[in-house]
Amino acid sequence: MSEPIRKGFHAIRDWTYDHYHYAYALGTGLICQSLFEPSKKAAALSWMASLAAGALLEPCVNPHRQVYGTSLWRLSPDHPEVALTFDDGPGEDTPALLDLLAEQQVKANFFCIGQQIEKHPQLLQRIAAEGHMIGNHTYSHPNLMLRSPAQTHHELQKVQDLVQQICGLAPTFWRAPFGFRAPWTHGVARRLNLKSALWSINPRDFQDPGSEVIVSRTTEFLEPGVIVLLHDGLRARQQTLEATRRLIPMLREKDYRFVRLDQAHA
Ligand SMILES: [Zn+2]
Repeated sequence: MSEPIRKGFHAIRDWTYDHYHYAYALGTGLICQSLFEPSKKAAALSWMASLAAGALLEPCVNPHRQVYGTSLWRLSPDHPEVALTFDDGPGEDTPALLDLLAEQQVKANFFCIGQQIEKHPQLLQRIAAEGHMIGNHTYSHPNLMLRSPAQTHHELQKVQDLVQQICGLAPTFWRAPFGFRAPWTHGVARRLNLKSALWSINPRDFQDPGSEVIVSRTTEFLEPGVIVLLHDGLRARQQTLEATRRLIPMLREKDYRFVRLDQAHA
């Protein structure tokens, strides 16, 4: 892909992320118009139905909405605390990340996937032994909007059992893959004594935008009580590692404390 095309693609992707309401309205409007042409009435009615469906679905994908159940997506703004959270591990970059956190005396939060835990049980033990919080990020990382209550229960229960067997403790927080929850998902998790945790800052490290972009997207929205979403598993995460290496001293300089979600001022 040539450089101008790549930049254009990234600009559209970032605009869509920041303005997804408009992108949805525009996209469904264009689709409805092309499907029901030349009937303006049919196009308008189908577009209105799409917008209504979007309004019902939006709380399922927006990490800050509490319509179908509550989630911890930010900590108390009255304390200079920041929670670094790492999803999708344990993975090949987790040891280097743990080395960095130990060297910097930082406690963090790891939302682990069951299938990754089965591949790296010693890493899970190391995460726990070094004082970090282990959260449940489901067994196979599915889109839970497409999973029944029974399937969701199975996804969460399996990780509770794995962590209990390997570390002798069960997670108290869980995080939905991609942040996607169905209206029934919160109830299933509550019955397993799991509290939902999402995030306030998503620097989108999964796009591999470069460590400096991950740092700037994080510091841009920095304020007391933020929960930062990062990743340490499923594939190489060197950019996240490098960004974390740069973020820690920057945040320390501003007197932030790095906290576990279960020990923070909520
Ligand atoms: Zn994930």
